[in-house]
Amino acid sequence: MVVSAGRGSDAAGAPVNGPIAVSSTYRSGGALSYGREGNDTWAALEEVLGALEGGEATVFASGMAAVAAVLETLPAGAVVVLGADAYTGTRILLADLARRGRLFHRLVDTTDVGATLDACEGAAMLWLESPSNPLMAISDLARLSAESKARNPGLAVIADNTFATPLLQRPLDLGVDVVVHSVTKYLAGHSDVILGATVTNDPAWVRALLDRRSMHGGIPGPIEAYLALRGIRTLAVRMERAQANAAELARRLVAHERVEVVRYPGLAQHPGHHLANEQMRGAGAMLSFDVHGGAEAADRCCAAVRLATPATSLGGVETLIERRGRWAGEEALPGGLIRLSVGIEDVEDLWADLAQALGAC
Ligand code: PLP
Repeated sequence: MVVSAGRGSDAAGAPVNGPIAVSSTYRSGGALSYGREGNDTWAALEEVLGALEGGEATVFASGMAAVAAVLETLPAGAVVVLGADAYTGTRILLADLARRGRLFHRLVDTTDVGATLDACEGAAMLWLESPSNPLMAISDLARLSAESKARNPGLAVIADNTFATPLLQRPLDLGVDVVVHSVTKYLAGHSDVILGATVTNDPAWVRALLDRRSMHGGIPGPIEAYLALRGIRTLAVRMERAQANAAELARRLVAHERVEVVRYPGLAQHPGHHLANEQMRGAGAMLSFDVHGGAEAADRCCAAVRLATPATSLGGVETLIERRGRWAGEEALPGGLIRLSVGIEDVEDLWADLAQALGAC
């Protein structure tokens, strides 16, 4: 599907890749009227994403535009239950909304089903992220969806599926109502575009999210949508290689004397290993590890890499490394925590680079 969906017409002579639609308006009388409402390049990308997640996709200007659109559907004063280690941007947005009295949130350890269900009492939305960023915690999407809705029938369950991608995890099949993506990451895959998406199979949600996009104008540019569409064609092979690299690096990092702990759900000793095996089709290509010596040692390690790139973000073909605690809002993380977005380079080259960087910290 990553290769075949969203190709457009199969008539003789039709282009194999649909043209990039760069019009802000359309001649009257057709399906499209104005460029903020719809675009054929978005539609092609939405077809691929929808097919992969098993729902209807809506693309947005960024992952955060998608997150904001979902939250914006809630009435004033509603409560959102959110993993305490969810993506910083989502936590910062919810904190801002709380300061202005728009929405309120409760932070909870979503790996603890009982505590999460208790926190959902009277809430309007449960926001899940598994694996979480950057602690790589695994939460039980099926159980949390079923049991939270059984207790609180009006509750909406959302899953940020950025880390896993639909190739490794399909939250809608597990009972989640809406999937959110930072398409910027694995889906686009080349660190050259910012884009987001929602996917749902509930028609009321589809309508609500389309309305948010049209009214707020958080729309992607057609060139960005095309870049993501081009990138997603190789998602399967990129993910296969990056995941194999991550599994090998995780195994070697565990045995390294400078490393205190490695968080990768593919490792048998990871607390979420069995659950990840059940709900995912692979542990993915993100991992985090703590070096002895705290933040200073971690900074020295990130500064010493030669092949990997010291930078934030993830999901590109190139390996990115960063100490997450350097960001505001991430102070609670272990000081020596380094997040690695493992790319598709040769694994021996990557290990040689990491080993020399660890030697410098
Ligand atoms: N969700 C997760 C898990 C992320 O890592 C990010 C960005 O890092 C976002 C959402 C936000 O996406 P974007 O940067 O495309 O707005």
